[in-house]
Amino acid sequence: MSRPVYLDYASTTPVDPRVAAAMLQCLTVEGEFGNPASASHDYGHAAAALVENARAQVAASVGAQPQEVVWTSGATEANNLAIFGAAEYYRESGRHIVTSRTEHKAVLDPCRELERRGWRVTYLTPDGDGVIDAAQVAAALRPDTVLVSIMHVNNEIGVIQDIAAIASICANHGGARLHVDAAQSVGKCAVDFAGFGVDLMSFSAHKAYGPKGVGALLVSRRGGDAGGGAPRVHLRALLFGGGQERALRAGTVPTHQVVGMGLAFELAAAARESEAASLGALRERLWQGLELLGGVLRNGTATHSVPQLLNVSFEGVEGESLLAAVHGRLAVSAGSACTSALQEPSYVLRALGRGEVLSESTLRFGLGRNTSEQDIDTAITVVTQAVSRLRRISGA
Ligand SMILES: *Cc1c(COP(=O)(O)O)cnc(C)c1O
Repeated sequence: MSRPVYLDYASTTPVDPRVAAAMLQCLTVEGEFGNPASASHDYGHAAAALVENARAQVAASVGAQPQEVVWTSGATEANNLAIFGAAEYYRESGRHIVTSRTEHKAVLDPCRELERRGWRVTYLTPDGDGVIDAAQVAAALRPDTVLVSIMHVNNEIGVIQDIAAIASICANHGGARLHVDAAQSVGKCAVDFAGFGVDLMSFSAHKAYGPKGVGALLVSRRGGDAGGGAPRVHLRALLFGGGQERALRAGTVPTHQVVGMGLAFELAAAARESEAASLGALRERLWQGLELLGGVLRNGTATHSVPQLLNVSFEGVEGESLLAAVHGRLAVSAGSACTSALQEPSYVLRALGRGEVLSESTLRFGLGRNTSEQDIDTAITVVTQAVSRLRRISGA
């Protein structure tokens, strides 16, 4: 039995074989297995050199300086460090945060927890395409606002926010630092940390053909291209221990993981433009095939979105039955992987104004490096058969 066609790249990607090979060099006795914090011998020095090389690769891929990269266990931890770290550090300046209803749970849940601890949070509602207008951010800022957290690329509908415009609003305010969850961005759209003017930015390796369990938080520093100046934003650490990562994230840096992330980001950034062209064409082929069914709705905007993602609602079918009907032949998800277990209608689509029924009968197609034209044609066939059959049964 062959495995189902994988169209769930927005949940996770396979590790690039070149990345896997580089990671293997950091694990065994012949390789650089040393502790990068061991300053007293060559094993430590060699591992530290690999870690710094990876730091430079990540920085170069996203328009940042190496000194601005703080390794974490993933984007979830990076988001937690940014949100709790800034909220705690600036708690005497104010306790108001601005975010949006369409953020990933790894931003929304820390915000909810801060509300329980006495902070106030404003949740912005995007327009029908999922776009947040910078003017909405401006209108939500208050004298006691210390943090704005707006994602770059949405993981369910692929919409890209105008981060530079939001950053300039925050810069004018003075006290509001901008955090951006960019877990879905690398390899899919241009990322320019310095150019955007962002204070904090979260990344994950496993959405860009790197390993799971590693990510980074960028913490901006003054000093322009040299980037060596004092931090432009301060954080209170979440983990205390050996003082690694400028005491922002204690714990032994996992050489193999960060080496994997560094190479994965370098490769993904280099392949971005050619992949955008080929995957964008495949996505349109998929949409044109599905559109023939009638009663289908494309969520998000085709113009302000990454080419790897297509989110479609199907009238007259029930979401759970649809997923069950394609099961075994097609690996897709209803919304994000993190919430689909709850079997609730997508809160992202609800925020766009979709009704509960349509929000439930939705499939997210995530295309990736290994997706072929044949995969797309199989997906069209499988979904067309499933939707037609379900509609027939329900008499729709
Ligand atoms: C995947 C994802 C995360 C979580 O990243 P992990 O590295 O898996 O913790 C956070 N935000 C967005 C937008 C994501 O897509």
